[in-house]
Amino acid sequence: MAGSGDNTRCSFCGRTQDQVELLVRVGDHAICSDCIRSLDDYLREVLGEPQPKKPAKKAPAGERPLLKPREIKAFLDEYVIGQDEAKKTLAVAVYNHYKRISRKADDDLIEKSNILMVGPTGTGKTLLARTIAKMLGVPFAIVDATVLTEAGYVGEDVESILTRLLQDADYDVAQAERGIVFIDEIDKIARKSDNPSITRDVSGEGVQQALLKILEGNIVNVPPQGGRKHPEQRMIAVNTENILFICGGAFEGIEHHISQRLNMQVIGFNAQKEREKVDKNNLIQYVAPQDLRSYGLIPEIIGRLPVVTHLDPLDRASLLSILTEPKNALIKQYKAIFAMDGIKLTVRPDVLEFIVDTAISFKLGARGLRSLCEAIMTDAMFEAPTSGRKSLTISLAYAKEKIGKYASKLN
Ligand code: ADP
Repeated sequence: MAGSGDNTRCSFCGRTQDQVELLVRVGDHAICSDCIRSLDDYLREVLGEPQPKKPAKKAPAGERPLLKPREIKAFLDEYVIGQDEAKKTLAVAVYNHYKRISRKADDDLIEKSNILMVGPTGTGKTLLARTIAKMLGVPFAIVDATVLTEAGYVGEDVESILTRLLQDADYDVAQAERGIVFIDEIDKIARKSDNPSITRDVSGEGVQQALLKILEGNIVNVPPQGGRKHPEQRMIAVNTENILFICGGAFEGIEHHISQRLNMQVIGFNAQKEREKVDKNNLIQYVAPQDLRSYGLIPEIIGRLPVVTHLDPLDRASLLSILTEPKNALIKQYKAIFAMDGIKLTVRPDVLEFIVDTAISFKLGARGLRSLCEAIMTDAMFEAPTSGRKSLTISLAYAKEKIGKYASKLN
């Protein structure tokens, strides 16, 4: 299994471990669980075998009692460490979004509130979006903005975003039309130059323009199997009016734009005092639409992402909590895996600290925690089921030995 933190991609759809349930390596290639499922469906169709009955996994949002913002935040707290500001903002936006959908009046009184999350990679943007979708039980798709290009260029058309959502909804269009799409790395399609008259910017402004059509709520013709639009391919019309779009991006270097704006704002009376209040170590918390504009997002896109929030960098204490506290924390997962073989797993506290310090020193952040844990645990998971033992304690010396081997592979 490929751990998070590496760049192995599914050879079929191009997504990484962080974007799929499971990524299975096969020699020099890899395939993700979604593509395995699609291939299974395809094989059954070609070989004339009956399709397995799929459980109705998604109860339509709106038919479930809608959680209140406080309850949504409490749910997020079970899975995501810290990021209180982002959790609150998301909770309110999601609550209002589904209120808007469940409103019977057809008057467009409440506008859609798509969300933009700004924060360093590996701080929980995808995790937050995924957890919200899990809570609501609505179809959910993650797409990487970097693979999108303007129609007619090499890459994926923006409509492919909706293909993913349709697939997750088992092609139930009505369900997909109430789903959530997470568009990652939206910062990578920022305009490369401040000069708006730039003629060719294939992966920048053109893609933003194409995305607009989807974000603002339109009927979009979607190729059901993704890929390029072929004239012979039957299209599915999807209305994006009620799809919630959550975008995320690291916006590396945006601090520069923020500090410039803040400096300009505080000229004048009380300026010195105002400036002192600014937390210079975490400028992202002051991110505002003007900064996104000077970073290279076009005003129309910013207008369609009215809810902007930020994620804080994760400090050592947060990384330690991530290992043990969330409902599906990594260490809890390993304990459960060993318990299934009747083995009680103990991981010494100094091992946890070592894992976190190594992740920090390798600049891997939270994304690296999993691959480090895998490096430590793999041999033990290989031996333990046949060893007949009832307990296993991971000591610091053992962890250091395993990480040593892993680190030599990284260098
Ligand atoms: P981003 O989308 O911001 O780049 P992710 O949400 O993909 O980051 O985070 C990568 C992994 O790191 C997650 O799958 C999760 O295991 C862990 N992680 C990151 N941030 C948090 C957090 N705040 N709380 C719990 N786990 C986290």
